[in-house]
Amino acid sequence: MSELIPLYSIKVICSNCEQEFETSRVRPSLKKAIRRDADFCSYYKNENPDYYVVRVCPACGFASTENSADKLTDRQRKAFAEQVGSRWRPRDFGGPRSWETALETYKLALICAQSINDKERIIASILHHIAWLHRYRGESEQEQRFLRYALDEYVKVFEREGVAGSDARLMYLIGELNRRVGQFHEAVKWFSRVVNDQKIMDAAMIRASREQWSLLREQMQGLNLDPDNLTSEG
Ligand SMILES: [Zn+2]
Repeated sequence: MSELIPLYSIKVICSNCEQEFETSRVRPSLKKAIRRDADFCSYYKNENPDYYVVRVCPACGFASTENSADKLTDRQRKAFAEQVGSRWRPRDFGGPRSWETALETYKLALICAQSINDKERIIASILHHIAWLHRYRGESEQEQRFLRYALDEYVKVFEREGVAGSDARLMYLIGELNRRVGQFHEAVKWFSRVVNDQKIMDAAMIRASREQWSLLREQMQGLNLDPDNLTSEG
């Protein structure tokens, strides 16, 4: 019996130059994570599907994810060409990816997204993925750096969405990233919002916020900080 090849190819149309290219994906049957961190960083036995999130056009170098726009505006095309495209040398990222290649694709996606002024939610997610890649390798200084960048972008997303933004998952994530970068006051503020906001019905996120809030209390007691004092300061 031959072993199932974990990757398959799909065709994608480049949202910048409109050429068709191929990119690999991990077979859905092999996508099950063996473990997941509280900020949704996932671990896999075999091929990591997160390595294949970014699609890079070999012709023009435009890198994006499925959540990016289908087609760039003229202004975005111009900005990309000036800031990234002019320096691109044809290169194909379509095959299997190592950790290093995956990191390259995310960094490329980041500069592309910044050049076209893409949505904050997309930029936040790219930064968060870069932090995860460093976590896999135990590179905590780099991980922390990118978690902070991701956190800033997630907060911008929340602020932009204003009062309509009772997005429990986003609020929980902002709490959890604050906890991970050691901003405990902020973490408590966001977890308590998810738990106490009557409009929030997302049971999974309410439960996760309670769990991480209680973990945070233990963390603080371990550091001889007073969690009750912290809570009352809000
Ligand atoms: Zn292209």
